[in-house]
Parts: sequence; C-alpha cells; structure tokens
Amino acid sequence: MSLANGRTYLAIPGPSVVPDAVLRAMHRASPNIYAGELPDMMPGLVRDLKRVARTKGHAAIYISNGHGAWEAALANTVAAGEKVLVLATGFFAKAWSWIAEARGIDVDLLDFGNGGTFDLARVKAALKADSGHAYKAVLAVHVDTSSSNRNEFLPLRQILDDLDHPALLMADCIASMACDRFEMDAWGVDVTVTGSQKGLMCPPGLGFVFFNEKAAQRRKELKRVSTYWDWTQRAAPEAFYQYFSGTAPTHHIYGLRTALDMIQEEGMEAIWARHATLARAIWAAVEHWGQDGPLRLNIADPALRSHAVTAMSIGKPFGAELRRWCAEEAGVTLGIGLGMENEEDPNSDGYFRFGHMGHVNAHMVLGLLGVVEAGLGTLKIPHRPGGVSEAVKVISGV
Ligand SMILES: *Cc1c(COP(=O)(O)O)cnc(C)c1O
Repeated sequence: MSLANGRTYLAIPGPSVVPDAVLRAMHRASPNIYAGELPDMMPGLVRDLKRVARTKGHAAIYISNGHGAWEAALANTVAAGEKVLVLATGFFAKAWSWIAEARGIDVDLLDFGNGGTFDLARVKAALKADSGHAYKAVLAVHVDTSSSNRNEFLPLRQILDDLDHPALLMADCIASMACDRFEMDAWGVDVTVTGSQKGLMCPPGLGFVFFNEKAAQRRKELKRVSTYWDWTQRAAPEAFYQYFSGTAPTHHIYGLRTALDMIQEEGMEAIWARHATLARAIWAAVEHWGQDGPLRLNIADPALRSHAVTAMSIGKPFGAELRRWCAEEAGVTLGIGLGMENEEDPNSDGYFRFGHMGHVNAHMVLGLLGVVEAGLGTLKIPHRPGGVSEAVKVISGV
C-alpha cells in the first residue's frame, strides 16, 4: 500500500506550483507571432510586470531561467576587467558572483555566512575603502533560497548615498518576487532580476531584468554588449520580435498573462500578507517540533526570515530520510538542503527546505506540515508532537 497516490505536491523552492488557470492558458495551438493577440498583449504585460516589481523603470524579458537574468543584468552594466562587490548570505549570491567571474569581472565577495543578514558596518567599510569608485555594482540577493534569509536593500542604498558612491545596487529577487515585500524604486534598487518559476507561478523559462535610468545610462557607456543580452531593444521595442531578440516564448506569454491577472486580482499587499501568515504557520510548527529533538529553523531571528522559503537543519541522515519518506509514502516532495555542505555532511543530508512561494494556500501548508509530522513520527526522529496544532493556531488567528 502507498499513501502517495493522489495529487502530488512539489513543495520545493522552485519551480513552484503552477495554477491550473495558467496551465489552461498555455494549452493551445501555436499563435501567430507577427500580428494579432500575442503582440498586442505585450505592452500590458510589461506594465503589469513593472507593477509587481514596484518600479516605473524599464523591463526586459529573456527566454531564460534565473541564471540568464543574472547574466543579462551583468552584461548590460559591468565590463570585463571592472569590479563588483558581492554580499553573500547563502549559496545564490556566490553563484551570481561565479557568473560575474566567468565574464571576466573582478569580484570582491563579502561572505556573511548562512545564518542571517549583512553586517552593514563591513559593507560600509568596504565601500568607503573604495574611494576611487572601482566597484561598478553591488550585488545582493533579496531572499537567499539556500539559507532562506531575507536581506534589506534600503540600508544598502543609504550607505551608497552617504558615501556618494556611484555603484549600481543590484537585487536578485528570483525567490522573493510576489512573495516577500519588495519595493524596487522606493528602496533605491537600480537593477532587479527575477524569473518566472517561483512567485510568478509560471513554468521556468522566462527571466526578467528591471532597470532604472541610471542603469540605462551605464549600459550606454559600455562599448560592447552581445546582441542577445543587450536590454536596449527589449525594453523599448519597435517590433514585437525585438522584445525577445527573436521568436517569442509564445505559450509562456499566455501563462504569464494569466498569472499576472491573478496577481492583480489578489493585490500585492494581500499576496505579501498571505505569504507572511503561511510562513508564520510553518515556523510555529517547526519551532514546536524542535523543542524535543534536533530540528531547527536555519534562520533564528524571525525578522530575517523569508516568507517564500524555509530552510531547516535536522542532522544527518534525518533530512534525506524525511524527504524520501514524504515523497514515497505521502506524495509530497520537500526541497533538498543546498549550500550547507560541510566535511561531516557533504551532501547536506542534514538539511531540507519547504518552498511556499506563489500559488500556495492554507490547506496546502497544513497538508505539508501534517505529512512532515507523520514522517517525523514514522521515522522515529525525535520531536515534540503537536506542531501542526501550532500552525493551525496561526492560520485560525487564535
Ligand atoms: C532559483 C534561484 C536562482 C536561480 O534561478 P534558475 O532559474 O534556477 O537559474 C537564483 N537566485 C535565487 C535567489 C533563486 O531562488
């Protein structure tokens, strides 16, 4: 007998759950790319994307995953031989820095570990020491999906302004867009990157780069940007073809249109509040289980936790065993531990993650937590029973 037969649930931090309405919108014959509905949809799509990113700046769309958006942001702003400062609070900032290095960019990386946010004093010291303004950009991740921490950008903007440092402030919002509050213009972010397959509820395949006038000016100063990555025509196309530097991602456009309609209908504030409440329910359950046993939330300070993803440690080999049990016996796939490897745990088997980004509601979160509590019991992993009841209290507001 298996209790996994039924609708399965991929509870990993991306790709996220794609709404049935998005799937239905994509299920169609190939549309004409030269005239008609598809080209006509584009101006509204760009307008609504910018609303989600909270910017009045420009938006460029790439047929890519998040890695492509990372590459695009750098290709338009920093030349080989120039320098950037990367602020790392997990695996993803480091991975972005490797893309920079592969482009011949000189990287200084400040590593703040996996357990919290930036030390602003160190950031300030590094930028102050750069009195010759060698740093062309400061790269940071809003929600690092490996550690599940959340970083603030306004303090970074303030440091740059206080020092009169002209470096562009660049944010990776791939995990956080439409999950955790993010205000590109109000927080003084110059370049924001995201992708389609997390909070935006679409399949992987679209990368988005938002940029302001300062970043656009920087692009103009670069001698050479490869045709495909150049954001100039994508952001101000004269023909539909130029949005994508070639054939449009036809079906993704339909899916994205529907996802943006859903986002518009719910409203950004309501979406952020839903993610916050569901995240608090998850934390309540995990903290309760952990009172008698090894389970811990990776980010101790609630103020520094993401509302889109939760990383936990439980010790080797419990993390891997729990993931296996939940998938094989209960139809729920949990996220692997990422970037937490050490000598004793080379595969991050002592860690796991929940993705709770995008199309996620109370019944899904309570189902997820119920399965995990069952797994903890079956596998005899020490824990205090009753975590689900703590989550229920958060959901019911009592
Ligand atoms: C998922 C993710 C990425 C990578 O996106 P891909 O689509 O896998 O290339 C980068 N940064 C963050 C914060 C992410 O969550």
